[in-house]
Amino acid sequence: MNRYDLHCHSTASDGVFSPTEVVATAVEAGINVLALTDHDTTDGLEEARQAADLHNISLINGLEISVSWFSYNVHIVGLGVDLHSEPLQKGLQKIRDFRAWRAEEIGRRLRRDAGIEGAYEGAKSFSNGQSIGRGHFARHLISIGVEPDYSKVFKRYLVRGKPGYVPGEWAELSEAVNWINQAGGQAVIAHPARYKMSRKKLCQLLVEFRELGGAALEVVSGTYSKDDIFNMANLAIKYELLASAGSDYHAPGNWSDFGKLPNIPDNCKPIWHDWPTEQAIGDN
Ligand SMILES: [Zn+2]
Ligand SMILES: [Zn+2]
Repeated sequence: MNRYDLHCHSTASDGVFSPTEVVATAVEAGINVLALTDHDTTDGLEEARQAADLHNISLINGLEISVSWFSYNVHIVGLGVDLHSEPLQKGLQKIRDFRAWRAEEIGRRLRRDAGIEGAYEGAKSFSNGQSIGRGHFARHLISIGVEPDYSKVFKRYLVRGKPGYVPGEWAELSEAVNWINQAGGQAVIAHPARYKMSRKKLCQLLVEFRELGGAALEVVSGTYSKDDIFNMANLAIKYELLASAGSDYHAPGNWSDFGKLPNIPDNCKPIWHDWPTEQAIGDN
């Protein structure tokens, strides 16, 4: 039987392991169909592909696009994309340019509003030469001892209303879905239960997303409760979206390790139901 994990991060964005190490860690946990989905980049996929071939598992070309939708920062995962798609790569470059500016601005605001010096340089030292994200700031702030863990450091410094939060001008929802579809991929709303939207707003997002050509919803995610899975499964069915599952792995012992995801509920149709990996390995 195939074991899927369709959402994780490497050092190509804000994960702590290289693509090679991420693949090896997933394999060790029993995953045999893996999508590497770094934020706004496909840079880690070539290396991940080599590692996946070596371990004889299926690698899905993925990414996670940052989207501004009303006042929300929504993440859209793309699965099965052609890495050489020009609209996709141009769009990602535009987002990375914003991300570079935002990182400097986070550093400035942490200095100005929280009295923390050198946060930008500190975050940069964790970024391995890649785009600097909030995860890198979190790691730096933990390393200098201001908070003991991710969830505390995010809550105190990096979420909306806190000193290091910079509102984003990310991609439009329509752009993200179009880039993914033009690259031959499937668009998935990442961790929908995490946006702290009212149910009405979330339903509006799902309707819009589907009308734009979106394919699926993460019905199972590393940080979900049982209730979240139940609720997201019902929404996927109601709005005729496929169901995806991914840990959102960033680091060991963090958020969610590989191999611990519950199954997608039986009443949902998994996003992989018509994938070649499915036919080749003969899962149902
Ligand atoms: Zn995300
Ligand atoms: Zn993610």
